[in-house]
Amino acid sequence: MAGGLKLYNTLTRDKVDFEPIDPDNVRLYVCGPTVYDFAHIGNARPVIVFDVLYRLLRHTYGADKVTYVRNITDVDDKINARALRDFGGQIADGSMSLNEAIRAVTGKTESQFHEDVASLGCLKPTVEPRATDNIPQMITIIQRLLDMGHAYVASGSEGHEVLFSTASMADYGMLSKRKLEDQQAGARVAVENHKMNPADFVLWKQSADTEPGWPASFTFEKTTTPIYGRPGWHIECSAMADRYLWEEIKDRLSPKAKSKPHQFDIHGGGLDLIFPHHENEIAQSCCAFDNDLMATVWMHNGFLQVEGRKMSKSEGNFVTINELLATEKFGGRKWPGEVLRLAMLMTHYREPIDFSVKRLEEAERLLAKWPAGDAGDLAPDASVLEALADDLNTVAAIQAVHALAQAANADPSKLPLFVASAALLGVAPKKAEVSDDLSAAVQALVDMRLEMLKAKNFAEADRIRDELAAKGIQLKDGKDKETGERITTWEVKR
Ligand code: AMP
Ligand code: ZN
Repeated sequence: MAGGLKLYNTLTRDKVDFEPIDPDNVRLYVCGPTVYDFAHIGNARPVIVFDVLYRLLRHTYGADKVTYVRNITDVDDKINARALRDFGGQIADGSMSLNEAIRAVTGKTESQFHEDVASLGCLKPTVEPRATDNIPQMITIIQRLLDMGHAYVASGSEGHEVLFSTASMADYGMLSKRKLEDQQAGARVAVENHKMNPADFVLWKQSADTEPGWPASFTFEKTTTPIYGRPGWHIECSAMADRYLWEEIKDRLSPKAKSKPHQFDIHGGGLDLIFPHHENEIAQSCCAFDNDLMATVWMHNGFLQVEGRKMSKSEGNFVTINELLATEKFGGRKWPGEVLRLAMLMTHYREPIDFSVKRLEEAERLLAKWPAGDAGDLAPDASVLEALADDLNTVAAIQAVHALAQAANADPSKLPLFVASAALLGVAPKKAEVSDDLSAAVQALVDMRLEMLKAKNFAEADRIRDELAAKGIQLKDGKDKETGERITTWEVKR
């Protein structure tokens, strides 16, 4: 890749040359969905954007050299509320436990999410851990923070809490560039009494009977307090990133990577996660592991609006991935996954997107001009690689792919290069499988059209051609070299 990969790093607010700590083990973590309801089209943006990055990293460093972790957040008060709403009766009459109800909500939502993002052409991450499968790892990190003077146990209105002490970290606020003093001075809300500092955040909190919880004990200032409770939001990502990008793979990392324990290459998510979520992940991980950096590069996608307005249920413009794919709610029709995907990539990931019917129609028109075929084992074209290497410039990459499509339409020998290049964006038009029945039916119409042409019934011949075109079948007329007779071949365009 000419010039190498450059990525915008939110931490330094500039574009940097990307150099993985260990090129044989490139490590990427992206915050995944909270599984309490259908994912909306805004949630699809980080999934698609980081899928393109994953594809580019796999191409550059080798498909088996990249570890991509995207978590599932299945501990959240919204999940509890949903479980009580949907299964309150069963919980009350004892036929279902709260944990079973929660599992039913998260299990169903998670499978729906997997179906949705597969339709958007996204590869599966290497590991997709659930928060609830990583509770012991979170407890271990929290105890480390207590031992190292970065956390404390306090009693709030809802019981015991373990809190992170923001004042204990000299450079707290490094990602969002917020200064702790500003937050103290500007704090409008009354400081909850049990917090040493208004910016201090929950690592673990006590659970009531109607809330999910796990048994845990924490030792603070030589006193051990059992707290049946649940983790705060941020600690799960510190724990899962460390488990899957350091703890479980550290033995195979290079000496350089081993000399930077616990640090990995790229952490991503939407812009809204910079503060407090990512700031607090950094605080937890850097303090627990005594590191300057949690991840080298921090990437954030911009926000998505719908038809010019912030997407919200009250605006009536809230739309889920599933509604776009399977219902006529948006623009009065269903939209194919690859149209949604291309529409998303038509704007640079750091810019805001306005998701609209017009944009989807534009993406669909473009896709209709792209031929289908197989890539063979060709590599993507340099023009597309260069565009993506410039901080994932998908806008320029789509232009480059389109130029390759036009070249392939004019000269079929260029088709594999186009297909290999489009695959880097995750848009890979494949030749539709043609059943024997369809093939026979098309051939019968093609033969009839030839008869009509011979009989100079051009109107009927054109009607047949148009009928086939409407079904995505394109005819190509030529002459038999030996006999000079007209012959017609056909292909399924899309
Ligand atoms: P959540 O399930 O709310 O934690 O969000 C999952 C991911 O979707 C996070 O990376 C969010 O930053 C991202 N996200 C949520 N809403 C939008 C939006 N409207 N536009 C772009 N990204 C979003
Ligand atoms: Zn996270």
